[in-house]
Amino acid sequence: MTTVAFIGLGNMGSGMAANQAKAGRRVLAFDLSADAVARAVENGCEAAASAADAISQADIVLTMLPAGKHVCGLYETEVLPNAKSGALLIDCSTIDVESAKTVANMCQEAGFNSADAPVSGGTAAADGGTLAFMVGCKEENFSAVQEALEPMSKATLLAGGFGAGQAAKICNNMLLAITMIGTCETFKMAEKLGLNAQNFFDISSQASGQSWSMTSYCPVPGPVPAAPSNRDYQPGFAGAMMLKDLKLALESAEASGANIPFGSHAAEMYQAFCDNGGDVKDFSGIIETL
Ligand code: NAD
Repeated sequence: MTTVAFIGLGNMGSGMAANQAKAGRRVLAFDLSADAVARAVENGCEAAASAADAISQADIVLTMLPAGKHVCGLYETEVLPNAKSGALLIDCSTIDVESAKTVANMCQEAGFNSADAPVSGGTAAADGGTLAFMVGCKEENFSAVQEALEPMSKATLLAGGFGAGQAAKICNNMLLAITMIGTCETFKMAEKLGLNAQNFFDISSQASGQSWSMTSYCPVPGPVPAAPSNRDYQPGFAGAMMLKDLKLALESAEASGANIPFGSHAAEMYQAFCDNGGDVKDFSGIIETL
């Protein structure tokens, strides 16, 4: 039986670990929070005594942690010293490209196959096993990575070599921030021009203004019943998470020399939104600031 070490059982990791267990794998779960470990045990995982305890027994090591410093720290002190020979090491957190490459280099030097595999989809998809994974790894390892992620995924896509998964995630979320703000200000202007929101939705979602922000996550209540706009902008995908991803975009743009005027402005707007309580609201709630 495949043994999986799952480290980081927060909002995302708890559902992801549960889906690994549901697929019949032995899942050794560890988190700094005892409550998170207890929840994982209720969902079919085994409690590991420590990160090292889980990692030392695993064929696949999965991490779902807040940011680059947590991932680098855990790989340095726990994953690489304890992983067994031949283990596949996959980090699913959203982190900066440089940290992802640093982790990959450490893994290479220690003789392990590894991948950066951040996700798109949020907690509902984590619970439902329908995440989209964007993978950076060696091409020859991709099918093993796909198989490892399969119980948690509706799509696993190869973005390129090490760090490319994070690059794809950062670019995707910068575009999402920009289209969301554009959709919000457009609905506000449509209202000023006397257009009914549902009517404008029906037209624009069939016309060239269409985007995921409009048709799957409409920021005005009504047209898309499952969207957070219908529940007072409870997340969903919190403003704080979007701001984190936009800060990664700014760092990547500076490091690569990319010119991102709309991305920079989106970051400023999400910073202001979060400073005024939007950090705990859904990111589409930015419409209330326009
Ligand atoms: P979270 O804060 O709920 O969970 C992180 C977990 O990691 C916590 O339970 C924490 O105790 C644990 N942790 C931190 N350091 C640890 C360590 N050294 N050892 C063991 N456990 C440790 O965060 P989340 O919402 O689950 O997000 C996780 C990652 O997924 C982030 O990188 C985030 O950007 C990304 N992400 C989140 C969403 C979302 O909708 N929440 C969507 C896509 C991607």
